[in-house]
Amino acid sequence: MSVIPLSQPDISHLEIQSVIDALRSGRLTSGPRQARFEEMIAERTGRSHAVAVSSGTAGLHLVLRGLDVGPGDEVITTPFSFIASANSVLYVGATPIFVDIDPRSLNLDPARVEAAITPKTKAILAVEVFGNAQYMDRLAQIARNYEIPLIEDACEGLGGSHHGAPVGSFGRASVFGFYHNKQITTGEGGMIVTDDDRLADLFRTLRNHGRIDQKTPDSIGAGGFSSARLQHECLGYSYRLSEMACALGIAQMERLDTMLEARRRLAGRYMQRLMGFGDLILPNAESPDDMSWFVFVVRLSDQFTQVERDRVIDGMRRHDICVANYFPCIHLQPFYREQFGFDRGALPIAESVSQRSIALPFFNQMDETQVELVVHTLKVMLQREQLLRPEE
Ligand SMILES: *Cc1c(COP(=O)(O)O)cnc(C)c1O
Repeated sequence: MSVIPLSQPDISHLEIQSVIDALRSGRLTSGPRQARFEEMIAERTGRSHAVAVSSGTAGLHLVLRGLDVGPGDEVITTPFSFIASANSVLYVGATPIFVDIDPRSLNLDPARVEAAITPKTKAILAVEVFGNAQYMDRLAQIARNYEIPLIEDACEGLGGSHHGAPVGSFGRASVFGFYHNKQITTGEGGMIVTDDDRLADLFRTLRNHGRIDQKTPDSIGAGGFSSARLQHECLGYSYRLSEMACALGIAQMERLDTMLEARRRLAGRYMQRLMGFGDLILPNAESPDDMSWFVFVVRLSDQFTQVERDRVIDGMRRHDICVANYFPCIHLQPFYREQFGFDRGALPIAESVSQRSIALPFFNQMDETQVELVVHTLKVMLQREQLLRPEE
């Protein structure tokens, strides 16, 4: 039996042709493909501006810089996410204030967020965890009430929506990521979207060494040097996205709805096959049509310990089924513990969820046989844990 991967990019001949065309065009960065890719994401999310960057994390960094978040400021965020969302707060020297999650959606709990706001709160940084956008509108409302910006880390939610509004429309600025396991990929890459003209200009400047953006691709000559003066307005970064990456992104965006549909069908199949398992808590989408399935994460019920979960993960891997512990809590990562003195028990809901979660293989091309094998193996592993458990 061959290995069943955790995820796998969906690259058709269209993507390959698109990248080849970019290579043949003679223009490898900051060109027409970047402009087109940005336009497609702006259109999809209903925003006035999209700014392509080299990764989702680079995008979050620029948003925090653009909103002038820095030392002494607090940013309210979630402990249950990929580590990049909180790391971006550390990049600008601000303090992440972790707030516990809602156990069903796995997103920040709006009531707890509101209770954590202080005069030092400079922003709320929220994540659509695993592609579920629940509470985004409430978090945006809280941010408006307190006149602080909501930063939307939409890296896991492209194509999703909540109460009719698309993922990417909730933040003062919102950020997508195109790492190779995301709903669409550019290999590496990211995109910031916003309706704020001033911020969009600033992001374009910051991604390109602090240079005033000329907007027209032709401002860069054949050698990659601007015909305009080399004017650096502020400390910027080298966070551009190549034309090859944007070419890949364009082709992926053209197939986005087809791919989201394949993911929805696959999630439905898992749901149907796992429904009867008393030992499992399945993903909970308030409205299933709103979900943009990034990964498929199940949770063992409360009688299981972290040690048992880890044994299930190891057992699945021994059977060549790739699974993962999405997510270890950010506040319990070694350098967060060291810097902020966090210990176990600080955020009980996030920790309890984190200890029992298992991300199952999930990718567009996954077939029925593979799903059956994953489901069967998971069942066997869970039964084994029950048998191993000492009589109470
Ligand atoms: C993928 C992801 C990012 C961005 O990751 P990059 O590797 O920098 O593109 C940021 N936040 C979350 C929650 C993510 O899942």
